[in-house]
Amino acid sequence: MSRFMNEKYAGLEAYTPGEQPRDQQYIKLNTNESPFPPSPGVLSAVNAAELEKLRLYCDPACTELRAKLAELYGVKPENVYLANGSDDILNFAFMAFGGDGVVYPAISYGFYSVFAALHGVEAEEIPLEADFGIDAEKYCGRNKLVVIANPNAPTGLSISLDDVERLLQRNPNHVVLIDEAYVDFGGESCLPLLKRYDNLLVVQTFSKSRSLAGARLGFAFGSEAVIADLEKIKYSTNPYNVNRLTQIAGIAALEQDEYYKENCRRIMENRRYTADALKALGFTVLDSKANFVFAKSERIDGEALYLELKRRGVLVRHFSREEICQFNRITIGSREEMERFIETVSEILEEIA
Ligand SMILES: *Cc1c(COP(=O)(O)O)cnc(C)c1O
Repeated sequence: MSRFMNEKYAGLEAYTPGEQPRDQQYIKLNTNESPFPPSPGVLSAVNAAELEKLRLYCDPACTELRAKLAELYGVKPENVYLANGSDDILNFAFMAFGGDGVVYPAISYGFYSVFAALHGVEAEEIPLEADFGIDAEKYCGRNKLVVIANPNAPTGLSISLDDVERLLQRNPNHVVLIDEAYVDFGGESCLPLLKRYDNLLVVQTFSKSRSLAGARLGFAFGSEAVIADLEKIKYSTNPYNVNRLTQIAGIAALEQDEYYKENCRRIMENRRYTADALKALGFTVLDSKANFVFAKSERIDGEALYLELKRRGVLVRHFSREEICQFNRITIGSREEMERFIETVSEILEEIA
């Protein structure tokens, strides 16, 4: 740290992203990216003519992309917000709606605690239940911002729409942010509740199910007033936060929604294959509704398995936090990748037996 750093940030603990090795020799199952390329329409839409236009600023209102999203999801453009990845939206939501503090599960997306610390939002972390699930009742009547990833990460477990509705009813004077980064892999979106609850903010992303992690595109649905609050913060920091090429890629992606739906179906099939194969090897596998599984074995320590896999060219995500350090989070890739993963795990277990 330099001697110039503002004191209020001196103790900040930044988020640690998953490893992004520069060489491509790993089977990369550690950051929940899609194994499939963006749809053909995206590849042709981002062309030389569009590159030439990079001399011009992009549309800060994302007018066309916003209209397309509104149409596809059956809401008004005024209910849609777009940003540089959903991380950007979470950041702004903590700023905008965290005035009375925030409550979220103790084991969830690691960025929540970082944003809380960054903006001086008082954070309360509620432990997961013994089965790693979330008891919605514990988040009711808290009088602060509620943030829940549904499905949750890194467990992959989801809560019901009834539970989401209970959170909305019992925290009527605060925003309930439902982070649906993984909803397209078999989860149920709470978007239909938006008509009845003006305190709901639904956050989604093009990073996972729509194969655009590197383009950085997140979106949110909320009441007109809630979206206007996010816009105010955006126009106070970086109005051009969704760049020209990303807007074009996003529009093209929405025009080929069926391609992505089919990819999600394949991921769900591969998830079933992977979970079944891991269970056959004696693993405990949580019932994931996301594009990853969270699994542990009694036969090998979680970190040891992570390191052994890495040595053999397979990258998964391990968290050192005590409650979950026996687990690994394994992104669901292509069928070939998952077969290689299972073979490698079998080899490791045989060798230590
Ligand atoms: C991946 C992820 C995000 C961030 O997605 P980006 O749109 O790439 O910023 C947000 N929330 C959860 C729970 C995630 O897993």
